[in-house]
Amino acid sequence: MNDFAYAKVSTVQGALEAIRAHPGAMFLAGGTTVVDLLREDVFQPELVIDIGALPLREISVGREETVIGALVSNSDLAWNPAITSLFPVISQALLAGASGQIRNMASVGGNLLQRTRCPYYRELDAACNKREPGSGCAALGGGNRSHAIFGGSEHCVATHPSDFTVALTAVDARIQLTGPDGEREVAMTDFYVEPGDTPQRENRLRPGELILGVKLPHAHAGRSSYYLKVRDRHSYEFALASAAVAAEVSGGVLTGVRIALGGVATVPWRARAAEQVLEGRRASPALLAEAGRAAEQGARPLRDNAFKVELVGRTVTAALHELTGLPSGPQPA
Ligand code: SF4
Repeated sequence: MNDFAYAKVSTVQGALEAIRAHPGAMFLAGGTTVVDLLREDVFQPELVIDIGALPLREISVGREETVIGALVSNSDLAWNPAITSLFPVISQALLAGASGQIRNMASVGGNLLQRTRCPYYRELDAACNKREPGSGCAALGGGNRSHAIFGGSEHCVATHPSDFTVALTAVDARIQLTGPDGEREVAMTDFYVEPGDTPQRENRLRPGELILGVKLPHAHAGRSSYYLKVRDRHSYEFALASAAVAAEVSGGVLTGVRIALGGVATVPWRARAAEQVLEGRRASPALLAEAGRAAEQGARPLRDNAFKVELVGRTVTAALHELTGLPSGPQPA
């Protein structure tokens, strides 16, 4: 591990001043990603700024929205009664991620900034445009079973690893940021950027900015929602495919449909074609299967991950069965 200096701040203003004075520094919150990557020399900052003492640990439920501080732990958020009742998809996604110990340490802000689990990203001998721009992409000609079928480029095909962000996308969450130009909000669907020619850039955070929290608009509160994650083993594993589905279900008719995909794309992926199949229509097994097939549209599989195309469609269909309560599988004659 490279040597680095350590500083601890206790106010948001102090954090902003510290990062302004040291543009090459990194913020440290729960440390569940950052410490690993420091140990592996993927990150080599000159200074680490510990923001764990900032007053960003509240979950406040207002009339119009619920606001979650960036330092709320993944465990506290997953088990919060307001979240389990108003936004069950968020609780389910968090509890499907990592392990209990990691969820106790990991923060909301850190979860948003998780780094990819592409193995080449952490192998310093491998070519990786995300870690070292211009060096190439070992995954394109190497093992790419776990990689993206949506949103990739000739420079990077790494999946976004977070379950939480997929659920946030399905409830139209907004991210609160602060920085040298003051506070601003960015919609989840605008926060992440596909790799394109610059895979080292993963989101729209500007230099010197800090995540303050996440806002959940109550337009989606109390609606039916469900998170389904498919993986190689049942716990402590990243998704091969996942689906966060949310909708108002009234008399069997679906409105305000949101479908977001994880484990298959370079960013949390909105499956708009599948949403359109369902919007304003009465749920039936045939319609849910049609939506699943629509979720597969535009997929560009790699050598090792063609199986993900059908898998993601079936994952969406299965999640929609859970959402609507329609039985799945063969029906009695
Ligand atoms: Fe690096 Fe992305 Fe290629 Fe993985 S897929 S090796 S993260 S450039």
